[in-house]
Amino acid sequence: MIPASKKIRLILDLRQGGVLDTTLLAAMEKVPRDYFVPEAFRDRAYEDTALPISHGQTISQPLIVARMLAALDLNDRVKVLEIGTGSGYQTMILSHLCRRVYTIERHRPLLREAEARFEEMGRHNITTRAGDGALGWPEQRPFTHIVVCAAAPDIPPTLVEQLDIGGVMVVPVGDERREQRIFKVTRMETQIDVEDIGPVRFLPLVAGMPETDKLSRHAKG
Ligand code: SAH
Repeated sequence: MIPASKKIRLILDLRQGGVLDTTLLAAMEKVPRDYFVPEAFRDRAYEDTALPISHGQTISQPLIVARMLAALDLNDRVKVLEIGTGSGYQTMILSHLCRRVYTIERHRPLLREAEARFEEMGRHNITTRAGDGALGWPEQRPFTHIVVCAAAPDIPPTLVEQLDIGGVMVVPVGDERREQRIFKVTRMETQIDVEDIGPVRFLPLVAGMPETDKLSRHAKG
């Protein structure tokens, strides 16, 4: 099958999976997932499955991306914070759905590869940062929407603080031993409202920067 028909098949699978938001499906149809996976997995790019990228990470499963972004309920006036850029696949979808995307990745080489893709695809509403996403992006707060692409041990309080009142964060919570669940967290005036969206399997949110990265920075500086 040629990529175009594989892509249409994937969009139909997402609809079958209960994703009915046409704006979201159209944005996902615009993004060539084969561009975000390593050469060796290119023929599987339109399967509804997570696939390995470098640094032991994965490109997220399209149905999970769709469910998480559907829960965010985005529009083209908002700015979004994404934690865990990875390949940049979800970032690219976000860039079609909102005004500006701020995205943080702890693996610098992964981020550089993602940035090259954004550049080549002519997306100019994405701002990137290499760092620990658990700390958020304080200079840009508040955000109306935050999406976390790695499993946190608990709802991260620092990220809740960077949400606007009425703002929404979608975050997988749990670890390898406990079942992970995706939570939709809405920040209210004095408390948070938490809705359980369902089970999921994500790699963990890791604190700090990778050792190799720290070393290379020391070497330079
Ligand atoms: N949405 C991405 C998913 C990548 S997997 C995609 O579809 O490609 C999750 C990513 O989160 C990994 O790249 C991992 O390095 C990153 N990550 C894990 N903990 C992090 C942290 N504390 N801060 C920033 N990024 C983190």
